[in-house]
Amino acid sequence: MTDAQTRLAAVKHKIAEAEKTAGRAAGSTRLIAVSKTFPAEAIEPVLAAGQRIFGENRVQEAAAKWPGLMEKYPDAELHLIGPLQTNKVRPAVNMFHAIHTLDRDRLAAALAKEIAKQGRHPELFVEVNTGDEEQKAGVAPSEAAAFVERCRAEHGLEISGLMCIPPFHEDPGPHFALLAKLAGECGVRDLSMGMSADYETAIAHGATRVRVGSAIFGARG
Ligand SMILES: *Cc1c(COP(=O)(O)O)cnc(C)c1O
Repeated sequence: MTDAQTRLAAVKHKIAEAEKTAGRAAGSTRLIAVSKTFPAEAIEPVLAAGQRIFGENRVQEAAAKWPGLMEKYPDAELHLIGPLQTNKVRPAVNMFHAIHTLDRDRLAAALAKEIAKQGRHPELFVEVNTGDEEQKAGVAPSEAAAFVERCRAEHGLEISGLMCIPPFHEDPGPHFALLAKLAGECGVRDLSMGMSADYETAIAHGATRVRVGSAIFGARG
């Protein structure tokens, strides 16, 4: 096994243990292997080991790396976990099975238009800025329910869940708890939360998607 394959197995084991500890069903958390910055050659062994869901944070990088991998592994799923500009909505809807960073009306309108045009329906997650951090993307927690409602009523979008990236230097637990509470208020089912350092905590708070990069692929350069 390669290093990445060994680490993938360890992460999957820890996810299963965290589900058990939390009293949750086995397999209720899906692992997104975050392959951003890593080249196709580094991703291939992880595909070969059976992993099928991958996260990328830039449309252009994904478009350069993934077509060849997709040819070999047509059942692979790509998730966009980084910010999306409205001028990249067309390739994003074309390429990604899920978009985790919907956070403004202009983007919702552009996505609705492109989804109708292409007839493709990526899963959509609304990003919430749970720490109310000034420079961070995402809707404010106090705006989340109203924004999800506008996505549905005004833009005609189906929203699968909420996503958050807790403030770097804070205990992530309260942020995961807040996102879970907001999901209840918004009537959405999925929670995209938890990264390499805190995915077990996220699972304890109900994460249905964890986004794990360095714990699988190693440190990013
Ligand atoms: C990079 C990234 C991750 C993965 O981070 P690791 O700490 O390497 O697991 C998860 N989510 C988002 C939004 C990211 O940008």
